Amino acid sequence: MSDDVNPFESLQEQIDDAAAYIDVAPDVLERLKHPERVLEANLSVEMDDGSIEVFKAFRSQFNGDRGPYKGGIRYHPNVSRDEVKALSGWMVYKSATVDIPYGGGKGGIVIDPRKYSANEIERLTRAYATELRPIIGPDKDIPAPDVNTGQREMNWIKDTYETLENTTAPGTVTGKAPTSGGSAGRVKATGRSVMLTAREAFEYLGKEVESATVAVQGFGNAGSVAAGLIDEELNANIVAVSDSSGAIYNSDGLDIADARSHKNSTGQLSGYGGASKELTNRELLTLDVDLLVPAALENAIDASIAADVEADIIVEAANGPLTPDADDELTDRDVAVFPDILANAGGVTVSYFEWVQNRQRFHWTEERVNEELERIICDAFDTLTDRYEGTDAPNYRTAAYVVSIERVAHAAKEAGQFP
Ligand code: NAD
Repeated sequence: MSDDVNPFESLQEQIDDAAAYIDVAPDVLERLKHPERVLEANLSVEMDDGSIEVFKAFRSQFNGDRGPYKGGIRYHPNVSRDEVKALSGWMVYKSATVDIPYGGGKGGIVIDPRKYSANEIERLTRAYATELRPIIGPDKDIPAPDVNTGQREMNWIKDTYETLENTTAPGTVTGKAPTSGGSAGRVKATGRSVMLTAREAFEYLGKEVESATVAVQGFGNAGSVAAGLIDEELNANIVAVSDSSGAIYNSDGLDIADARSHKNSTGQLSGYGGASKELTNRELLTLDVDLLVPAALENAIDASIAADVEADIIVEAANGPLTPDADDELTDRDVAVFPDILANAGGVTVSYFEWVQNRQRFHWTEERVNEELERIICDAFDTLTDRYEGTDAPNYRTAAYVVSIERVAHAAKEAGQFP
């Protein structure tokens, strides 16, 4: 894992890599490399003991040429202005890769939420939502969950916004609980698109996914659902999974539902009885498996780890899990990397379905959500691989940026310049 790679610089490098394969004017490209605006706020929040603590918070609105800004909210001690800017840019190109009518945004608060009570997190979330209120809304900017946030926080943001605006506007935020306007299938959506991308990737590369060996780094919303679906729906063999407590391994395959219950009851994967041994994070990433799914945080795989990666295929569930140097190393070594902006796009796609349902005040079945999601991910996969074959792009990530930058640049050009 590399802490010294700036994810915003990684994003800009990815855009530059793709620019070599498309005809975009330098001034347009420059605009597509920077956020339109970034809100920075200092939130004063009352603690349970009556004291006041101040938390730094951000919201980056990267590009709105194709629709409202859209993207999650992260609560993590390592949140920074540049991380939020990078994540908001990845949302622009992710929405464009799967061709849904959104721009990109992202928010974050610098906090280790495990150290605070539920009441303190609620007051913090409502303070943040109050700061966001003028710039969010169903037609402006639509937040969603990310690391360490979920339905609970989204319900509070919706309630704060609706109370202050004296309205009902469930489409202000997605990833809500189903009873507060959330969509069926949203919780599993990111893991589902990771599973679908893995399925398509194996088929495209002419490899058998059934009984393929799989390692998954990160066992939160994205990783644990992806592991479960790859196991259940593709009949692959999940031999290793990890979280921040460490990695567990079993060459006969792990029982993912059982490992999840262990994590739910103890708070960590480490100590799980169904594992034959425990591994370090690096050992998991360099296992000799058919498929590796990084599903923790950005920069998890740097060039030195990439040099030892033995997986044939990587499907990125996390945003930005490879440093640019790691990407180059894996391209040189012919490891097939299917990028985040396709593979984890299930989250934003079902968020889009949730927003559509909220606007129509109508509810789709989970079956319909999953069918529409599968159609969108498979279409995007085919467009990306067609473009990969039609250009001499070095890898699938660059091909995805070629597709998505062209879409954003076209929308920008059609909009013209104002004023
Ligand atoms: P989460 O908080 O639910 O899970 C993160 C997991 O990573 C946890 O299990 C944590 O223990 C683990 N982890 C952290 N550091 C680790 C390390 N060094 N080694 C191994 N495991 C480690 O978060 P999430 O929502 O699952 O998000 C994970 C990634 O997926 C992020 O990059 C996020 O931006 C991306 N993502 C999430 C969604 C979504 O809908 N949740 C959508 C798109 C992308």
